[in-house]
Amino acid sequence: MTVEASQRAKTGIPKNPGRADLGMKATLLVPSKAIVEQYYVPLIYTACRTCYSELPPEEIFRKAANGEIDVAKMQRLINGVIESGHGSTIEHVVFTFGITGVSRTLSHQLVRHRAGVAFDQQSQRYVTYKQAATMLPQTIADADPELRARYEDQVESSMELYGELVGAGIPGEDARFVFPNGTRTNLVMTTNLRALIHMSGLRLCTMAQWEIRRLFQLIRHEIFTVSPFLGSFLAPKCVPLGYCDEMGNRDGHCPIRPHKDRVLEAWAEKAKAARAAGRELPVQS
Ligand SMILES: Cc1cc2nc3c(=O)[nH]c(=O)nc-3n(C[C@H](O)[C@H](O)[C@H](O)COP(=O)(O)OP(=O)(O)OC[C@H]3O[C@@H](n4cnc5c(N)ncnc54)[C@H](O)[C@@H]3O)c2cc1C
Repeated sequence: MTVEASQRAKTGIPKNPGRADLGMKATLLVPSKAIVEQYYVPLIYTACRTCYSELPPEEIFRKAANGEIDVAKMQRLINGVIESGHGSTIEHVVFTFGITGVSRTLSHQLVRHRAGVAFDQQSQRYVTYKQAATMLPQTIADADPELRARYEDQVESSMELYGELVGAGIPGEDARFVFPNGTRTNLVMTTNLRALIHMSGLRLCTMAQWEIRRLFQLIRHEIFTVSPFLGSFLAPKCVPLGYCDEMGNRDGHCPIRPHKDRVLEAWAEKAKAARAAGRELPVQS
């Protein structure tokens, strides 16, 4: 193997986390497919159209929700508005998910999102666990059996100690300090569509940590089941951008879109060739 090939193998695109059953779930609690079909696209269309129409919003919404406006026409306008980054129009629709069996490692990352999203999480103060469950990373599951066994022993003894502490009268809020990051948890997350697209852009990216990437694959699947049109906006951020802006992908190991360095190099090459031919490429202003 050449040096370049071995480096590439080392930094290779991470395996799709969906290959393993991680025991986590994302369930779209609200809205139902019927509500999305009847109201969500009409509502976003109403928000977009109100900007350009003399009609009052209630009249636009009435027509849109009654099927008097072609769905393809509504979708075309919504597409254009989203592509142009006019994001407030898609803040009017929200989705609520039940998220189950994810690790605290994941939830710590998830709740870093602040804008347009609300969380409620199972409390380790108020819940006294009889059998707290943990997440086993695939790399450890596949590791040398002796190493895996040591990991499992360590986790198990943390759980046993928790039980002993609680049994000795230590409050759950203090006993939980022995829990590992892999301890599973449950959350309810409500997000508007703009925030969901933004979070998915970051978390479906192959640079995201495998577990949260898997969660957003499950979330995308849930949205697709109620609306393939709205689901189609949930993609790694490079897809709408047209290029990758992650500095960790300068080596181009993730092939979904070319890194922006390559795009700029290609542009510079093109400008040089044009200059050699006696013309300047138009500069966008
Ligand atoms: C691959 C990856 C690696 C990461 N690694 C680390 C790490 O090592 N350490 C670490 O601490 N975090 C890390 N993070 C978390 C990251 O820094 C963000 O905190 C997290 O992704 C939340 O995203 P956001 O800032 O876009 O927030 P969101 O709340 O989702 O905000 C959405 C958008 O609203 C705007 N916005 C929100 N709040 C404000 C504000 N107060 N002022 C101005 N504009 C605002 C911004 O445009 C923002 O992008 C990582 C995230 C990813 C995806």
